[in-house]
Amino acid sequence: MNLPCRQIRAKIADSLDSSMDPVVLEHTQVCAGCRKILKQTAQLLDAANGAWEAPSVRIVSRVLGLMPESRRILVGKRIQIGGLLPARGPVEEFQIVIGSEDVSVRLLATPERQGWVIRGRLPSPDWLAEAEFPITISEDRFEMFVPSLEESSFELVGPAEVLRIPALSEVIADES
Ligand SMILES: [Zn+2]
Repeated sequence: MNLPCRQIRAKIADSLDSSMDPVVLEHTQVCAGCRKILKQTAQLLDAANGAWEAPSVRIVSRVLGLMPESRRILVGKRIQIGGLLPARGPVEEFQIVIGSEDVSVRLLATPERQGWVIRGRLPSPDWLAEAEFPITISEDRFEMFVPSLEESSFELVGPAEVLRIPALSEVIADES
């Protein structure tokens, strides 16, 4: 039932053209990346149809309104951090635990020449990780490359809840 984002994205334009595929509907409820693509595609189609008074907003909100969010949305907060940057100087690899009441995830952020690699483990193997950038999932491990920590937000989607991980730059800034 859980199609990969790639397959969902292939169905999005068709869905907007005719009737919304329930699979697309369900997926875009929980996947921020595909939701964004849906929005953008709707805007493109509107532009192509010469309808400039933003029916995309109408389409998208209708689409998103059709299926009530059945999962609990949790917003992750920093629980623990280790190996963080000195006040000044180069930012180095760090580990951070982010979570809410009952779900948490340990992330390892490693600087690379062009950005950051973020690695972690899903809370359990029936969870998914969804982001605007491609995420590789293997067993219960995930890994993604982001150009900057500002763009590192993503979502962990479980059977009953969604844990939103804010951009790590924000989570770190909570330090104060
Ligand atoms: Zn997706």
